[in-house]
Amino acid sequence: MTRSGEIRENVSLGTMNSLGIEARARYFVSVTTVEALRRALAWASEASVEPLLLGGGSNLVFAGDYPGLVIRIAIARRCWEQVSGDEATLVLGAGENWHESVLYAASSGYRGIENLALIPGTVGAAPVQNIGAYGTELQDTLVDIRALDRQTGNEVVLTNSLCHFSYRDSVFKHEPGRYVITEVRLRLSRTRPFSLDYRDLCDYFDGQDLRDLTPLDVASAVMAVRRRKLPDPEQLPNAGSFFKNQLCQWQPGSH
Ligand SMILES: Cc1cc2nc3c(=O)[nH]c(=O)nc-3n(C[C@H](O)[C@H](O)[C@H](O)COP(=O)(O)OP(=O)(O)OC[C@H]3O[C@@H](n4cnc5c(N)ncnc54)[C@H](O)[C@@H]3O)c2cc1C
Repeated sequence: MTRSGEIRENVSLGTMNSLGIEARARYFVSVTTVEALRRALAWASEASVEPLLLGGGSNLVFAGDYPGLVIRIAIARRCWEQVSGDEATLVLGAGENWHESVLYAASSGYRGIENLALIPGTVGAAPVQNIGAYGTELQDTLVDIRALDRQTGNEVVLTNSLCHFSYRDSVFKHEPGRYVITEVRLRLSRTRPFSLDYRDLCDYFDGQDLRDLTPLDVASAVMAVRRRKLPDPEQLPNAGSFFKNQLCQWQPGSH
């Protein structure tokens, strides 16, 4: 890989972060395969510049221009694996848009991630902070992730327990820069109960007949509730909520 090849210089990141900050990357590359990712990392190492992984830029704040190589993870893949009975495993490339993946699963009739609708960003960044909303977290459905381990140069599979998930936390935060997530596998089901205990969802569905509820109905409810609360970052750049939501979960029987 040469500077004049896949890697571009002095690239604006203004449209690549949800706050719309007009920072520039000294070097920039968008990778669509694991091989291209390997080449980009090797180039950064040879050029002695720090790489920065970029997904959708919705959880990054640029304090100025970035002096190293920004690697945008754009690995696309979406397929079903091991469909058996009511369950199926959804395989997603790290560069897939998270919200579109939720709608894809929900419109296929599979449950498990519908409460995570409208969370901005990519699939690959989702395990980093174990994204969560409305009573559901990524760890509830994640089977494993595939990643490039920069320490060894090997491709590794980390099962759910090896990701050490907790509230908005994971091994990826504790060993920053070590793993580049390239693929995520989720176990979804056609019959698992919906998670509707969160207060806003209880209120939304209050008085409705829930017998024929579909995962798409739940995703739509989550989208409606979220749109009432937060401006659309596409229209008005914002950082979402940047506090940890400790006390807002509705406990059954509390109203
Ligand atoms: C309006 C708004 C609402 C939000 N609502 C929620 C919410 O309800 N719940 C919630 O949990 N979060 C929420 N967030 C936070 C954000 O959506 C998540 O953190 C999301 O996972 C970030 O994805 P991204 O692709 O934009 O990551 P980026 O901002 O691009 O990157 C975030 C971090 O992950 C690293 N990273 C990116 N890709 C990879 C990869 N493939 N492998 C390893 N590391 C990688 C980056 O280097 C960086 O450190 C919200 C943000 C906004 C702006």
